[in-house]
Amino acid sequence: MKKEEKGISRRRFLTGSTAIALSGLLSKKIFAQTKDSPPQKSGTRLVLLGTGGGPRPNKMRAQSSWVVLVNDVPYVVDCGEGVSRQLVFANVPLRNLRYIFITHHHSDHNLDYGNLLYNAWVSGFKGRIDTYGPPPIEKMTKLYLEMNAYDINIRIPDEGRPPLPPMIFAHEFSKDGVVMQNENVKVTAALVNHPPVEPSFAYRFDTPDRSIVFSGDTTPWDNLIKLAQGADVLVHEVIHKPSLARLMARIPNADRLVEHIVASHTTHIDVGKVAKAAGVKTLVLTHFVPSDDPLLTDEVWVDGAKTHFDGKIIVGKDLMEI
Ligand SMILES: [Zn+2]
Ligand SMILES: [Zn+2]
Repeated sequence: MKKEEKGISRRRFLTGSTAIALSGLLSKKIFAQTKDSPPQKSGTRLVLLGTGGGPRPNKMRAQSSWVVLVNDVPYVVDCGEGVSRQLVFANVPLRNLRYIFITHHHSDHNLDYGNLLYNAWVSGFKGRIDTYGPPPIEKMTKLYLEMNAYDINIRIPDEGRPPLPPMIFAHEFSKDGVVMQNENVKVTAALVNHPPVEPSFAYRFDTPDRSIVFSGDTTPWDNLIKLAQGADVLVHEVIHKPSLARLMARIPNADRLVEHIVASHTTHIDVGKVAKAAGVKTLVLTHFVPSDDPLLTDEVWVDGAKTHFDGKIIVGKDLMEI
């Protein structure tokens, strides 16, 4: 479980005032361009950072990532490309990063995992970051830090930053169970079915005021239904099977992609069955496949899901707070 990365000088340097001033200026500029940073909030909030499914970047949705904020402490789930900037847009300061959870190692869920660690560091992060996920998350962490050692080693003395590798603790696991618990949050992992990626996990977050479950990528699956029993919110992936032919027409050299999508994901009809069987209050749809088809309106997704589920259904959008 525990893994402390070593290899870089453990000497510490005073944080450079220039670096702080610069990062402060940049944040102010970004907030001014969007909206002001909200005051500290207590309780549990959920922000959808990226709601697209699949590895191909597009204009409509960012790749998979969500953040649970408990008393303003961020718990990031998945790190699709662009997660750092989406957090900035959501007014979550990167220097506050503390926990990262990866559901499985498809690139649309982990491509910016290392970059998020790095970006937190250059944004002034100082404490420790614990990351959780299936193998090979320990190796990925180590190799990312090695790959970027040249830049990291320059910035340590040049900008007065503390060494990054000793601050990162990667925890990997392959079975169901509680993977993290502190005074505010308990996180439970459950194996799901997402061939050929094994193991793939769903996560449940229980806090004093809310329970939120992330399906990860999966077919309809009993172990997920068990994990999600009675949850306030189920954030579930979804595909629209009738539109896959149109998707294929836009992607060259992807003959076997439809086969993979159908065999390892959940349709917009079946997702309602899962929500009903789990008895959740609210179903949030995410990881849309196709994610950039203009013909797929919110109504299409809701109509499918409500065939079997009569609770609240939300069609997820990037940066939506729930
Ligand atoms: Zn995915
Ligand atoms: Zn996947």
